[in-house]
Amino acid sequence: MKRAEAKALGLKFYRTEKPCKHGHLADRYTKSAQCTECLAIQSIAWRLENPEKHSASMRKWIENNRELHATRVKRWQTANKDKVRADAKAWTTANPDKVKAKALRHIKKHPEAYTARGVLSVARRAKRVPKWLTSDDRWLMREAYFLSKLRTKMFGFVWEVDHIIPLRGALVSGLHVPTNLQVIPKRDNRLKHNSFQLV
Ligand SMILES: [Zn+2]
Repeated sequence: MKRAEAKALGLKFYRTEKPCKHGHLADRYTKSAQCTECLAIQSIAWRLENPEKHSASMRKWIENNRELHATRVKRWQTANKDKVRADAKAWTTANPDKVKAKALRHIKKHPEAYTARGVLSVARRAKRVPKWLTSDDRWLMREAYFLSKLRTKMFGFVWEVDHIIPLRGALVSGLHVPTNLQVIPKRDNRLKHNSFQLV
């Protein structure tokens, strides 16, 4: 195809039978008649010679095309799941300090979730978590732990989530369910000593 034909057809590229001066039989840009393979080679060479300029221009492009970039990253990650997983594992192994710091930051940000999870696993081991507990129930219970942290912060002394009927009571054992939880100051909780008073 001749360049003029491609132009008339509004094509971005055209293919000619004549090799470029470097011998490539690659597509040419209709606009400039430049060989796409030559341009690709030049661009790689430029990147290698100007790594800082290249990464700066990449950053700038990403800044101006955030959504497009995120879509592309996501698409790439979906297509390369194994590599993503292997890279993440390698990074974790190589950066134990960063992993630990990140975990600590997360705990600090969501302490109630960790407390809630810890108590849930204790209750599971004690077989005090009923099968009918729904995800809404679990959410409600996380909220109780959130409330206890919030009150601790507001009042300046420690509040705790307490099982009204203790999970491992001497007389009766309660369930780890929303209706068996109460948010109380820690001192009272200690005084109660896991005993359930039948009033
Ligand atoms: Zn070429």
